[in-house]
Amino acid sequence: MKDFSKSKALFERAKQIIPGGVNSPVRAFRAVGGNPLFMKRAKGPYLYDEDGNEFVDLINSWGPMILGHAHPAVEEAVKEALATSPSFGAPTAREVEMAALICSIIPSVEKVRMVNSGTEATMSAVRVARGFTGRDKIIKMEGCYHGHGDSFLIAAGSGAMTFGTPDSPGVTKGTAKDTLIAPFNDLNAIARLIDENPKEIAAIILEPVVGNMGCVAPQPGYLQGLRKLCDTHNIILIFDEVMTGFRLALAGAQELYNVKPDLTTLGKIIGGGLPVGAYGGRKDIMDAVSPAGPIYQAGTLSGNPLAMAAGYAMLTQLRDNPSLYHQINTTTTAIVGGIRKQLFSKGLGYTINQVGSMFTLFFTDETVINFDTAKTSDTARFAKYFQSMLQRGIYMAPSQYEAMFVSAAIDDLVVSRVLQASEEALKEL
Ligand code: PMP
Repeated sequence: MKDFSKSKALFERAKQIIPGGVNSPVRAFRAVGGNPLFMKRAKGPYLYDEDGNEFVDLINSWGPMILGHAHPAVEEAVKEALATSPSFGAPTAREVEMAALICSIIPSVEKVRMVNSGTEATMSAVRVARGFTGRDKIIKMEGCYHGHGDSFLIAAGSGAMTFGTPDSPGVTKGTAKDTLIAPFNDLNAIARLIDENPKEIAAIILEPVVGNMGCVAPQPGYLQGLRKLCDTHNIILIFDEVMTGFRLALAGAQELYNVKPDLTTLGKIIGGGLPVGAYGGRKDIMDAVSPAGPIYQAGTLSGNPLAMAAGYAMLTQLRDNPSLYHQINTTTTAIVGGIRKQLFSKGLGYTINQVGSMFTLFFTDETVINFDTAKTSDTARFAKYFQSMLQRGIYMAPSQYEAMFVSAAIDDLVVSRVLQASEEALKEL
């Protein structure tokens, strides 16, 4: 058994002074048991915890570290920016370069505003959609996560066609009633909601490829169908590409599936590991944002020089090395294909979903296409697999309902290490 004693002691101390001992809930390992590991450093494909244990990292900071940890180009850029000042609170050339870079890469993004997290990006995008259309309601998909803004913490309840109910104390009924819920991959449900709420829906927001119920792909025609419905009913289509942007393709899921949203939200990779988000899209919509227009949105540290430097370095690395996507997708297919073979040889009918460099092993025999099918997973079995993998030095997302994010630092040797661990972990189940 690995020694986690320093992490354990830190967690005990943390619980006295931080709610639940962590600054973001899923880190607490609640879904898998045991103590969260406290990390000390990371390099390439590896994480090192406070006890000195080494792990292959399959989360990569929940996506941002797509080049692996401590990439020299990103590190250099941050050092260079730090030498000028970590913050001015005034416009800088870096922000202009960053905006130009994002707009040049994602054709649907004609203008972009930087913020400090994915949550800010989605909250702002929805406000802009509401302000621009003069409508109050939004549609979100059951099981999609868009950060912790009040409008998004709504579950489907018992019926997909009914008004949402608050999923977190503190979200008012008034807010909840403006968020309508539909199952992912169900165009009829969306059409019905639009019919029942004529001219009331400002926006449809979704993860075009879902990461937050585990990895779930859109079925053929789904994204195109949403685009059509939005065009017909003057609804703003928002792709939340906080996870998928610059990951599934340089221009994200919208490039992969060839569907153009009106607004896009970004985060994670665009900060190169620093706290950043962004939202952008059609010029006529973005020109409604303050101070160009009346819809207010602001941020003291927005466009922060260190974050812009890290993000710019990250995005130029990705833009200038287009073969990188082929590489990480091939690596992911090797891991997924290997696990699939192991499942087959053991007579286990579990489902693995993969899109590009995102994947999830669901402990269910059902095909997973939405939240209901994802929820058929045996989470106790997942927890056991997770702990067995951890003991073998593989750090996975500590919940069944998360995707893994493969980095370019994972080579063939690391892949065999992951597969060896998985073979043994599946045997232990
Ligand atoms: N949207 C999506 C699709 C996300 O996955 C996340 C975070 N995992 C967010 C928004 C919120 O981003 P943040 O945690 O940076 O606020």
